[in-house]
Amino acid sequence: MSDIDLIIERLEMRGHRITGSRRRVIDAILAQPAHFTVDDVLHSTRRTGRATVFRTMKLLTDLNLLCRVLLEGGQLHYRLSTRGHHHHLVCRDCGRVEDFSNCDVDGLVRQLARATDYDIEGHWLEVYGRCHACRLLKPSSAISGARP
Ligand SMILES: [Zn+2]
Ligand SMILES: [Zn+2]
Ligand SMILES: [Zn+2]
Repeated sequence: MSDIDLIIERLEMRGHRITGSRRRVIDAILAQPAHFTVDDVLHSTRRTGRATVFRTMKLLTDLNLLCRVLLEGGQLHYRLSTRGHHHHLVCRDCGRVEDFSNCDVDGLVRQLARATDYDIEGHWLEVYGRCHACRLLKPSSAISGARP
């Protein structure tokens, strides 16, 4: 199933109508690179109001069709996310983002819940590093004064 079909199916399953403006926002999102900002989507949906873009992106995020990626510099980007719970591996050199779904923090969460008496509802984990291509291009030993 293509991304657009999957998105439409999930919206309709949850009782959301696919209006023309919503469809334009979704099309703009599908045309973005691997990760993008709200502004990127605004730029490519000029005929659609800002509020509609924001509301549609929020809806898609709530339905787990979009996920947020925090880049190392602190910029919040979005990314298409049609799989379930996952985390990101972010290359701090080229900004490439990869998903990984073997989330292994359940033990930590249980331990934390016991220790703090919190009812823990979620977590967010990004892992930063340098991808294979960047490491080939510039081995760590060649970097003077590696960043902290
Ligand atoms: Zn993601
Ligand atoms: Zn890289
Ligand atoms: Zn996780």
